[in-house]
Amino acid sequence: MTTSSNAVDTVLGGLARTRAWQEDFYRDLHAHPELSHQEFDTARKVAARLRGGGYEVHEGIGGTGVVAILHNGPGPVVVLRADMDALPVEEATGLEYASTVRATDTDGNEVPVMHACGHDVHVTALLGAAHLLADGSEHWSGTLVALFQPAEETSDGARAMVDDGLAALLPAVDVALAQHVLPAPAGTVGTRAGPLLSAADSMRITVYGRGAHGSMPQAAVDPVVLAAMIVVRLQTIVSREIPPDEPAVLTVGSIRAGTKSNVIPDHAVLEANLRTYSEPTRTAMLDAIRRIVTAECQASGSPREPDFTLFDRYPLTDNDTDTTARVSGAFEAFFGQRCRPLPRQTASEDFSEIPAALEVPYTYWGLGGIDPDTYRKAADHGRVDQDIPVNHSARFAPVVQPTLDTGTQALVVAAMAWLAPT
Ligand code: ZN
Ligand code: ZN
Repeated sequence: MTTSSNAVDTVLGGLARTRAWQEDFYRDLHAHPELSHQEFDTARKVAARLRGGGYEVHEGIGGTGVVAILHNGPGPVVVLRADMDALPVEEATGLEYASTVRATDTDGNEVPVMHACGHDVHVTALLGAAHLLADGSEHWSGTLVALFQPAEETSDGARAMVDDGLAALLPAVDVALAQHVLPAPAGTVGTRAGPLLSAADSMRITVYGRGAHGSMPQAAVDPVVLAAMIVVRLQTIVSREIPPDEPAVLTVGSIRAGTKSNVIPDHAVLEANLRTYSEPTRTAMLDAIRRIVTAECQASGSPREPDFTLFDRYPLTDNDTDTTARVSGAFEAFFGQRCRPLPRQTASEDFSEIPAALEVPYTYWGLGGIDPDTYRKAADHGRVDQDIPVNHSARFAPVVQPTLDTGTQALVVAAMAWLAPT
């Protein structure tokens, strides 16, 4: 009988055999990124790698999603999730394997494409972990589900898999786990219990006025002035209505009205973005926006009720306490000093749609991707924000190692916290 930590070490010994193909796979994926919902080649490559390893492979779930199941005796059922999509960003990393890909987006525009969020790291690490666990199947018992999700960047890929019958494909799942590469030193991992990534909501607000000649304001209801009042008044939601110890962000990122200086237009469109860490705060902020906008329209004598459209919505990522304690314990045992607490992030993710639909607990963790020496130098000079490119930057360039090894190890270590013999 092996002990749990021996079993983990034995399974991870297989990295010596997977590392070389993982690095090749990663560089190829990085050079050939695909936009959200267009991950056809990526999904094909993923499925090809999983077939033959004893996995039951399901393709085309929610569009391009891939679900691979390895039944390995009685025991817990663990879902490991990676996202596959890239972004419309023109790569400026200067890497040998940089992307020069261009593709057509959903609006019909030709755009550059780059793995600027590092989802290529997630895919490659999960493929490695799936292989290691299959090769070392005598050291654990249970069922492993490797899930490759489309369209995280458009916030609807996880939901698409759920709506396409994901639950019916799977046995009764016990836990779901996922990771994201971040601008932190490569070789490190970290998580935290409770709210980790914010919920995000975007709202398009159309307010109506009455158009007129710019010289005759008395004939108009001016939607430009109305929109300006709304922008200012919305700033009071976070500062005056949300408790000071509750993090929340409200940004009006876009405001559009009119075409010419001497024409008062008949409507204005504002787009606001919200980040919150609890459902009550989220609901309170959305209600406050509606209340303020409606009242400002009334104050201006607006001839029509305003329109509100919600879009680009991401759920809260709220790590389960017990699940996170189990993963953190396994990480500390394996990674030692390389396991660090992760601060709350204002980024958002749609991963939690999957455990929510399966009604299972989950933990999500961060994985460092920046060359440790580069990071240390920037930190020593107090220049991390200026010198270290972050996710979605055209210069975001995770180092291949130790990022891939660490991401692969983290998935195996975390999965085996459920699957290994105790
Ligand atoms: Zn992203
Ligand atoms: Zn991402």
